[in-house]
Amino acid sequence: MDLVFFGIQGSGKGTQAKRLAEELGYYIFEAGGELRKIRESGTELGELVKKYIDNGELVPFEIIMEVVNEAVANVPDDQKILFDGIPRDEDQMMAFDKILADSGREFRCVHILLDKDDAVERIKGRAEIEGRADDADQEKVLRRMDLFFEKTMRVIEKYMAEGKVLEVDGKGSVEEIYGRIKREIGN
Ligand code: ADP
Repeated sequence: MDLVFFGIQGSGKGTQAKRLAEELGYYIFEAGGELRKIRESGTELGELVKKYIDNGELVPFEIIMEVVNEAVANVPDDQKILFDGIPRDEDQMMAFDKILADSGREFRCVHILLDKDDAVERIKGRAEIEGRADDADQEKVLRRMDLFFEKTMRVIEKYMAEGKVLEVDGKGSVEEIYGRIKREIGN
């Protein structure tokens, strides 16, 4: 069974996803990472993607879904996947559900819960450590957080209604949160 990770910017989602994928043998699909590769590719598409990422906006539907489609097509059927950063809105959700269903894959979701004030504090620290351009600009980070509440939360609510979501408290140390995730997914 595949896993889909959700969490506001600063929730530690990416860190937890990478660690879990490594330990439990998931192939990790990191939407932001894949898009940053395209951004750096020196192509016309890269220039286009750059504009969206640098403004904290979602990259257009066709571009991200093509990347997801290709990734899923290239992963063997018996290799489980951990998706980080997809789907982020309801259009992506519909397309994502179809891609997975068409390849006979099933998934459940992990949502790392953190309130906005805590998330903003964490992001300040992360910008200093990792130096990610789109994290350094507070205004852009807040824009991404707004998108999370406006769009991604609807996706999470729909998956909740389908009984697919495991919720994990995102407060505490990386270790503590990791332990909670493993307990929730039954490992
Ligand atoms: P964060 O979750 O902190 O915003 P990510 O590394 O996941 O960071 O994403 C960085 C940027 O990549 C986003 O701000 C957005 O521009 C783009 N991106 C990531 N995932 C998606 C997606 N599913 N759809 C469209 N754009 C995306």
